[in-house]
Amino acid sequence: MSKSIQFKGYALVDPSNWSDLQVREFKPKNFEPEDVEIAITHCGVCGSDLHTVTQGWGESKLPLVVGHEIVGTVTRVGDKVSEFKPGDRVGVGAQIGSCLSCKRCKMDYENYCQESIETYNGEYPDGVVTQGGYSTAIRAHERFVFPIPDKIESRDAASMLCAGLTVFSPLKTYGAGPGKTVGIMGIGGLGHYAVLFAKALGAEVYAFTHDATKVNDIKKMGADHVINTSENKDFHKDLSGQLDIIISTRDTYSPQTPLGDYLSMLFVHGKFISVGIPNADNPLPQIHPFDLMPNGALIGGSHIGSKKECLEMLRVAAEKGVKPWIEELPMKEAGTALRNLHDNKVRYRYVLSQDLA
Ligand SMILES: [Zn+2]
Ligand SMILES: [Zn+2]
Repeated sequence: MSKSIQFKGYALVDPSNWSDLQVREFKPKNFEPEDVEIAITHCGVCGSDLHTVTQGWGESKLPLVVGHEIVGTVTRVGDKVSEFKPGDRVGVGAQIGSCLSCKRCKMDYENYCQESIETYNGEYPDGVVTQGGYSTAIRAHERFVFPIPDKIESRDAASMLCAGLTVFSPLKTYGAGPGKTVGIMGIGGLGHYAVLFAKALGAEVYAFTHDATKVNDIKKMGADHVINTSENKDFHKDLSGQLDIIISTRDTYSPQTPLGDYLSMLFVHGKFISVGIPNADNPLPQIHPFDLMPNGALIGGSHIGSKKECLEMLRVAAEKGVKPWIEELPMKEAGTALRNLHDNKVRYRYVLSQDLA
């Protein structure tokens, strides 16, 4: 048995002052036989964290520690844990629980379980509020714990566990690979992973950005084609019917966002998959059924990924040497990281390193 861990983290206490996080102790879930306890070393800063602290998705619980791109070291395992032992390097992503018995859970679709529990701002059946990774430690059922391959550094693995998985899942589901063309809309944290993983899977990648200052970076990430959409409003015309999949990582749309133009770039039965989740008052722009007819396009969504997909993503990342573009900050700078994310200054993901434990 390890020495007992003190559970504390950088918590949101006042949403009107959301970047001023305060250190607070919190009560972890009860330690159960299938649970793993993890001393956190790193946690990525996800757009979800920002939407949550700013209350963009609705009122959050308070005080609340956010963060769901967690890597650390196992300190303790329950009697029934088979996959992990103390000392293992592991991670936790955006989901920390599900019913484990429904059809979805049994088919490796636990990320779509109707009793899914989010890693923070969620609630266990006994009422314990889930607290995230801007903190010293976390407990999770082993189903929601991922082993980190030796070849991937902890600082690099962290943001794969939400951002990476969120794009890897639809890329894999919809067949990104050799001979396929993939368009990526929005090259921030998720989008940069979409470029990296679509290339690692062998697809030809078209990256769409409206930010001229990112063009060279995106080429270095490996995109075959970078289209600056603010430079050429007719960008879609040359690519009419060319793309098999479009992954939209955007988490803001305006009524003027030319969604129909993007759909026109899809090949027959091409898929437009949205993975970014805008604020509640910010829907997809209107389209007309005409926009879906010329190519039989489909519009869909995707929500994080399953453990099975996560293990495959980590294997691909280790084999192909996928290296995210991250900036590491001490955890006490979490508020600054959120502020910079809000102001669109991050290139391309912040990862916080432990300074509380
Ligand atoms: Zn379930
Ligand atoms: Zn996330």
